[in-house]
Amino acid sequence: MTINRQDPSVIIIGAGMTGIQLVIKLKEAGINNITVLEKSTTIGGTWRENTYPGVACDVPSHAYTYSFAPNPDWSNLFPSGKEIYQYFESVFYQHDIDRYTNFSETVIRCVYNKQQWTVETQQGNCYTADLLFSATGILHQPVTPSIPGIDEFEGPAFHTARWDHSIDLAGKRIGVIGTGSTAAQLIPEIVKRPNSDVTVFQRTPQWITRVEDKVFTEQEKQRFREKPHRMQRFKRFALYIFELGTSTLTGNSWWQKWMYTLFSYTAKRNLNNSIKDPVLRAKLTPDYKFGCKRVIINSTYYDAIQQDNAHLVTDSIERVEAKGVRTSNGDFHPLDILVLSTGFDASAFMRPMEFIGEQGVTIEQAWQNKIQAYRSMLIPQFPNFFLMLGPNSPIGNYSIIAISEIQTDYAIQAIKLWQKGTFDTIKARPEAMEQWSAMLKSKMGKTVWTSGCNSWYLDADGDPLSWPDSWKNWVQAMSQIDLKDFVTEGH
Ligand code: NAP
Repeated sequence: MTINRQDPSVIIIGAGMTGIQLVIKLKEAGINNITVLEKSTTIGGTWRENTYPGVACDVPSHAYTYSFAPNPDWSNLFPSGKEIYQYFESVFYQHDIDRYTNFSETVIRCVYNKQQWTVETQQGNCYTADLLFSATGILHQPVTPSIPGIDEFEGPAFHTARWDHSIDLAGKRIGVIGTGSTAAQLIPEIVKRPNSDVTVFQRTPQWITRVEDKVFTEQEKQRFREKPHRMQRFKRFALYIFELGTSTLTGNSWWQKWMYTLFSYTAKRNLNNSIKDPVLRAKLTPDYKFGCKRVIINSTYYDAIQQDNAHLVTDSIERVEAKGVRTSNGDFHPLDILVLSTGFDASAFMRPMEFIGEQGVTIEQAWQNKIQAYRSMLIPQFPNFFLMLGPNSPIGNYSIIAISEIQTDYAIQAIKLWQKGTFDTIKARPEAMEQWSAMLKSKMGKTVWTSGCNSWYLDADGDPLSWPDSWKNWVQAMSQIDLKDFVTEGH
């Protein structure tokens, strides 16, 4: 089969944050034969699917913005999910990405054969492309906990990522299972509903760093409009703080230790200053290190959990019954509504799609021993395929937009080399994959994530699925293609 390298066809799965910027950057790189397949009828991903009360971003707005589409009009430091969705939608239409997008196309199967990808959708359509991108996001498969009796609850029961807006929360007894970042945003909103009564089932307490939200005044927005460099400075500052924060979780130099102590102290002080009742404070005090689980950035949860209509239950859940939840101490908690704030399967990546690479190898086979990808993006048996936000991307308390953009730049470098004929297919050598994994492994033990807690950061072996080193070193690793790591057969 002859490949038109100068005008390759590209399929992108997903029209969320990553899919949108991929189209824009690929077009800038002169690639126009692009098809985006989106399962829903609208753009979105995370910000379409998460509409629970209080949904917001806990990364500052100007840092949670594309580099090429600064937004002086952000209303808040931590904007609502709806505002973020509208931002992505405006970028999508401003850049005419609808021209490239086929909505209501749920990809179920991708097969590589003879230098081509064939992509099948649930709707019965079949597409082919030279290059394939998965832009399906990280936290998109909600986890329903395997608690006995979970299906027996008689009232409305739903995951936070599948919020049922037809249910009126006023005057209801609402049970929330889980106390992660989502619950910390949700609970303060639902305790405010008239005559609601909220029972929070906490399995593990969390470290919370208090950062107050801020509403930008019209004057400030005007200044950002007139002096974009000020906005850029603000963005750089916010990203720098996050960079500093995450680097203290992955390294042990004197200054990292010092900063780590400072950040942990801030979270401890927040807990001590915010929670008056020593019994409640003890229940909310984690027994693992700060940063082991993703740090929650929030200024409202501690106030909410001290309201008269909020109850924190720390006895483990024994079973869910038709009319409520029974805990291991025998107590029964009657409920009208059950909310599962139980997180996502962070190791799903593009699955449950079926992925078949060279010689019929499936993604399940390729990942049988370890979920891994060279530079988080390239899986050796799956040529010409880029997994965006793949394993060991520096996810966590950082702007995922910046990560996605850097990965796109790396992919475009690889595509340009392929277009020049430097290699026949974009494919990492298995040895390069092994070296990459060994390098990650050598650093993992130094991270706080392996210090003894359960979190979605860890894979089945207890190894972090996130980048176990500083942001600076990741940017460095992604800055250039190392040709010796690629298969160059035929040249
Ligand atoms: P999560 O952090 O994974 O929290 C899930 C919660 O459910 C935990 O408290 C967990 O307890 C609990 N849980 C799970 N299974 C349970 C069971 N069988 N019985 C009792 N409790 C159970 O999920 P999340 O809060 O949805 O947040 C996931 C990630 O989404 C965040 O870490 C963050 O990266 C992202 N997020 C970001 C924002 C933002 O503003 N940028 C907002 C929301 C979410 P254990 O701790 O004991 O496992």
